[in-house]
Amino acid sequence: MGFQGREFVFESPAAAVAGLISHMTKGSPVPPATRPSETVSLQEARGRLLAEPIACDRDSPAFDYAAMDGYAVRAADVRAAAAHARRQHETSMRLAVVGESRIGCMPPALVPLPREAAPRAIALRTATGAPIPGGPHGADAIIKREDVAEHAEGAGHRAGGVGEVTVALDIADRIAPGDHVRRCGENARAGDAVLMPGEVLSASALGTLAAVGKVAPRVYQRMRVAVITTGDEVVAPDQTPGPFQIRNSNATAMAAILASQAWIELTRVSHVTDDGDLTAALRSLLDPPAAAEAVILTGGVSMGHRDPVRPAVEGLGAQIVFHGLPQRPGKPMLGALLEVRPEAVVPIFGLPGNPLSALVTCTRIVLPVLARCAGASRTPATLLPRLVELAGDDGRRIGLWWHRPALLRTRDNGATVAELVDSRGSGDVVSAARSDGFVELPPSRSASADTQPPTRVAFYPWPA
Ligand code: AMP
Ligand code: MG
Repeated sequence: MGFQGREFVFESPAAAVAGLISHMTKGSPVPPATRPSETVSLQEARGRLLAEPIACDRDSPAFDYAAMDGYAVRAADVRAAAAHARRQHETSMRLAVVGESRIGCMPPALVPLPREAAPRAIALRTATGAPIPGGPHGADAIIKREDVAEHAEGAGHRAGGVGEVTVALDIADRIAPGDHVRRCGENARAGDAVLMPGEVLSASALGTLAAVGKVAPRVYQRMRVAVITTGDEVVAPDQTPGPFQIRNSNATAMAAILASQAWIELTRVSHVTDDGDLTAALRSLLDPPAAAEAVILTGGVSMGHRDPVRPAVEGLGAQIVFHGLPQRPGKPMLGALLEVRPEAVVPIFGLPGNPLSALVTCTRIVLPVLARCAGASRTPATLLPRLVELAGDDGRRIGLWWHRPALLRTRDNGATVAELVDSRGSGDVVSAARSDGFVELPPSRSASADTQPPTRVAFYPWPA
């Protein structure tokens, strides 16, 4: 697996994410060609990871068109007519409207008028998105409708006849070829790649798939993830806990985090008591056909004599990559890799049982690693933090990366700021509920934190 069973001491949550990803992907930014894929409809593709390159089926745009409502002209004709009008000491010039180009239809040609006493430039009335003619009788610029005076009797183009509009000379002088014209192929040429494998199919990517007619895209199969909670003290949420028992909140919270990502399939959520056979439970999750490709455990990951996670993971034959990270909450977190086949490595995450610890570590560390395992070519944008100002910073820092629950609010000037939520620590589920996510504060020992407290901090929203 490339790390020869060495256990790492990572210096930050970010380093743990990067370290696990580099072990899983062997340093390659390209999703593995071996990852199975399937064909889905555009509706089903939302949030999934694209498994094939997508090319334009035709030039984009496919034809020259007007980017504004107005009049399609040849710029040189307009400027010549403007120069003539100026010699006549006029302040505006006339534009003969010889036809109309309508959206979705073949545009008429810009056919010159029979010779007239006073030369007039010719134009087609046109609307945003309407094609403009090319070739010898083509147009090369659009004069915006608001730059033109439309006369009551002319009103652009009279049915079957020639209408007339006028344009002020200072505006006409500035008309240049290409004004408000979108040229065929200026976005991309037929055959050009527009999306690459490993991209999340966001709204914009799906719109592009529709635009190029790709109605059955190939996406990576969803990553099968299983959750096991541990602990002798927890009961199901619908049960009444005994005096020293608590309800299992982690199972629901972890399932919700995983369900927030369309590229994940939650295969099973189970619970194992601390003296139960956790190794056997893990092994059963890895059995085909629905073999889990990643496992998340909560609780029992500290060094207590009854903590079952590390011995169970080692009993399975997995290699521990790290056990312990310089963060609060989440200090006892464990990351391990199990090679189930030469080409298949299953990451196993041991998250501390405290509800806030499990929420933070699953959001901050597990999701970005799973995304890359699932075929993402980079960390999806929705999993990256926002840099926001910390409102009412109490200046407190600790010698660890500190994840503190925070609420987002908007200042009058539109700026988004994070406000710390009072929290009694990692067991404080109530403070978790009152927050929108958490900020990640760097350790106090880092030079930048000592000399100049960060005004902007990374904020991670709770996945929804
Ligand atoms: P552990 O990580 O197992 O030492 O547990 C740390 C704390 O988290 C203890 O107070 C546990 O009772 C609590 N805890 C463990 N598992 C869960 C769970 N599934 N839901 C809610 N709290 C839990
Ligand atoms: Mg426990």
